Amino acid sequence: MREINHFIDGKSFTGATGKFGDVYNPNTGEVQARVQFANEAEVAEAIEGAKKGQRAWAAMNPQRRARVLMTYKTLVENEMDSLAHLLSSEHGKVIADAKGDIIRGLEVIEFACGVPHLMKGEYTESAGPGIDVYSMRQPLGVVAGISPFNFPAMIPMWFMGMSIATGNALVLKPSEKDPSVPVRLAELWMEAGLPEGVLQIIHGDKQAVDALLTHEDIKAVSFVGSSDIAHYIAKTCTEHGKRFQAMGGAKNHGIIMPDADMDQVVNDFLGAAFGSAGERCMALPVAVPVGKDTADEFVARMLEEAKKLRVGVSTDAEAHYGPVVSAAHKQRVEDYITMGEKEGADLLLDGRGFTLQGHEKGYFIGPTLFDNVKTNMKSYQDEIFGPVLQVVRAENLDEAAHLPSDHQYGNGVAIFTRSGLAAREFASKVQVGMVGINVPIPVPVAYHTFGGWKRSAFTDTNQYGTEGIRFFTKIKTVTQRWPTGDIGDQAFVIPTMQ
Ligand code: NAD
Repeated sequence: MREINHFIDGKSFTGATGKFGDVYNPNTGEVQARVQFANEAEVAEAIEGAKKGQRAWAAMNPQRRARVLMTYKTLVENEMDSLAHLLSSEHGKVIADAKGDIIRGLEVIEFACGVPHLMKGEYTESAGPGIDVYSMRQPLGVVAGISPFNFPAMIPMWFMGMSIATGNALVLKPSEKDPSVPVRLAELWMEAGLPEGVLQIIHGDKQAVDALLTHEDIKAVSFVGSSDIAHYIAKTCTEHGKRFQAMGGAKNHGIIMPDADMDQVVNDFLGAAFGSAGERCMALPVAVPVGKDTADEFVARMLEEAKKLRVGVSTDAEAHYGPVVSAAHKQRVEDYITMGEKEGADLLLDGRGFTLQGHEKGYFIGPTLFDNVKTNMKSYQDEIFGPVLQVVRAENLDEAAHLPSDHQYGNGVAIFTRSGLAAREFASKVQVGMVGINVPIPVPVAYHTFGGWKRSAFTDTNQYGTEGIRFFTKIKTVTQRWPTGDIGDQAFVIPTMQ
């Protein structure tokens, strides 16, 4: 059985806890490797190495640090095919989508190459007589990243790009479900010239996470995962005086106005609701058609098209989507379909019990479509995270717009319309962090910033973009003067600018 080791101080590190997690191939349902789980002592060892590596890395001028990132980007690009296959074999997303996962991460690395400019401080000459004030951004020290299973390349690269470029050392605890890509990404960092210790990979479960959250040398924690765990991360970091950003779950709505281009809408929903088997925090699992005619047309066309989707093994180039990540997750999604049915929604297309010939033990779920879903149903209120599209009908834009605003999650939302005025009003008022106007998956580009609202993010600072630079740095402000003789200003009153 292949074993996936930790990665500490520039090399593979074999843990000694005797605790492992199984890593499955979701296409076959077979265990393909086991990953080591770290305890407190191993996490502490990784942090110790990171402290040593960080000092020299932070002392390197930012242009040189940026050059390591530039080389890194090329190395990852050169390995795109094999990384995508590795990713797909543990996650189950199709190869083209696995490449998208890697490329969206690389775009953050690309943005972080501008770190010499992004870390510049501010300067005021003569803020007082002969007094200048300037500020600088400095790294925090050793920081931690904890990532979910659904983007095993992109989200680790969000953390890596922003924290490493700014001169920190990062201890990453990737998802135990698909840990191989983060390890390979770490090896490529070494090839790119990153000094030992600046990026440590520690595998594990709650025990490893808790060891990071409570260790005094971890100065900040960036987390992405489900909302309950995100909330726990936020509370524990607060108790331990740490800076944190903790992104959580989602239930994104797509509002379909009567004037929308229905061809585009159906096409966009197919990709956004079912792509990656619905396992995206920016998926579009709720459609809100406005008016009966819009709803009837949307539901009829969606049903026809969803039936044609090809569910296949993740290496099938023709497949629209592959299996979900685990047997437990398949069960959870199917339980939600059963719940929706019991709650009285109209189950028009049922993906339960789907099997793929030759891959009967794979974690496949067929496309599922519900109509007449109501807001008091638990299957609507919760995140399902599977290939399940729920249609909630609304009478008018006002009623439709309340749905995402009133929902517990507020990650992304989309509106489909030809009316600039309706879209503008909606974007301004909706209580959601990322808005798409005729764009189904509005994940902001790397030089903007990513973050939801409400239970989708327990944080003041978004991921990546200039917000990411702020998160991973602290400001020091210097007030200086260079006296030229008798300064004669002994003062017992706080200096003011009066
Ligand atoms: P998860 O919360 O189960 O796991 C995320 C990380 O937390 C993993 O590294 C895991 O090992 C760790 N973890 C799990 N249980 C823990 C515990 N009790 N204590 C401490 N650490 C624990 O999430 P997942 O299933 O891997 O990922 C899917 C979830 O992530 C979905 O809810 C999805 O919406 C969300 N997500 C959110 C965003 C976003 O930016 N908002 C992006 C991607 C995924």
